[in-house]
Amino acid sequence: PPPPGPLPIRRLHESLINRIAAGEIIHRPASALKELLENSLDAGSTAIRVTVKDGGMKLLQIQDNGCGIRKADLPLLAERFTTSKLSTFSDLSKLTTYGFRGEALASISHVAHLSVVTKTKSDSCAWKATYSDGVLVPSKTGQTPDPKPCAGNDGTTLTIEDLFYNTPTRLSALRSSSEEYARILDVMTRYAVHNPSVSFVCKKAGSPSPELSTPSSSEITQTIRLLYGHSISKELLHITTSSDNGEDDDTSEDDPESWSAEAYFTNANYQAKKTVFLLFINHRLVESSRIKRSIESVYSGVLPKGASPFVYLSIKIDPRSVDVNVHPTKREVHFLNEEAITEKISDTIQHTLVGQSQSRVFEYQT
Ligand code: ADP
Ligand code: MG
Repeated sequence: PPPPGPLPIRRLHESLINRIAAGEIIHRPASALKELLENSLDAGSTAIRVTVKDGGMKLLQIQDNGCGIRKADLPLLAERFTTSKLSTFSDLSKLTTYGFRGEALASISHVAHLSVVTKTKSDSCAWKATYSDGVLVPSKTGQTPDPKPCAGNDGTTLTIEDLFYNTPTRLSALRSSSEEYARILDVMTRYAVHNPSVSFVCKKAGSPSPELSTPSSSEITQTIRLLYGHSISKELLHITTSSDNGEDDDTSEDDPESWSAEAYFTNANYQAKKTVFLLFINHRLVESSRIKRSIESVYSGVLPKGASPFVYLSIKIDPRSVDVNVHPTKREVHFLNEEAITEKISDTIQHTLVGQSQSRVFEYQT
């Protein structure tokens, strides 16, 4: 029977709060990896190596050659809402980093075993630390849980083991390790295309050769060819477009509504079963069904029914016009003039596609 009246309101336990919050950000191994990749890129890395065991459920390790973490900051590393990237609310509108909330490592430490080995350029050795539920794990001898000195290269290696060991429902909701691994490769592939100057390597632990490997200082088309194959890269068209319509020359650099976009997309010769759409807004990997639909409708005019394109689109918008704080995983962003921007990009793609297929017909006829 239902209780006779309202139940008392109680404060949740801190550990429960943290575990619930972690569940919103870390859905599966690939979402943990996305956070770690972004941290490595934020740290200025030019080489990122990922090692995976059992689809990332047993082990997910990411090694970078970025700026490293200062030893003095290690005690705070996995605490919730601790970050080196944001300090005032107004900073939110000029963000140039992926991170800003200081939640990722904290979340991971609440649902997995987390450890770090890190070295800054000025450190003479690396430091190792292990975390559980947001804090450094106390050493067995009961001393203060200081980071331990160890050998290591400049940069940071983060190791996540036994993801969701303490959240069995989440663990049982995961797919097979091969499916989870496929998702990890998908996230890495997308970031690798968008960051051709950074070398990405992903391999299974114990496997002799990586499943994914890109060189550093490459170019987007080269990276697309390497990762998606020649059949796509040989049919790519390229456009750039922006808010600048050349009409009023006084639009200062400082116009918060200014934007620019660049796209690589397949021509009418290429026909896939499903659209491959890589969308980056201010370097963030995001999803937008509006933009996707708009581009698909452009292609519906050039491709036969049931055929789909490959599209990579990168949009840069003044950070003051973008709200990245709408989704815990930052998977969606909201921005000003979304409709107008989408339309201009789609129109530009359409012109190029139509122009290209007309010149092809023309060549054919002559
Ligand atoms: P956020 O990225 O929102 O700041 P995180 O929990 O992802 O929060 O990371 C917390 C802090 O740890 C970062 O602000 C950064 O200072 C540091 N950090 C995390 N990963 C790295 C890394 N790979 N290299 C250097 N510093 C890192
Ligand atoms: Mg982060």
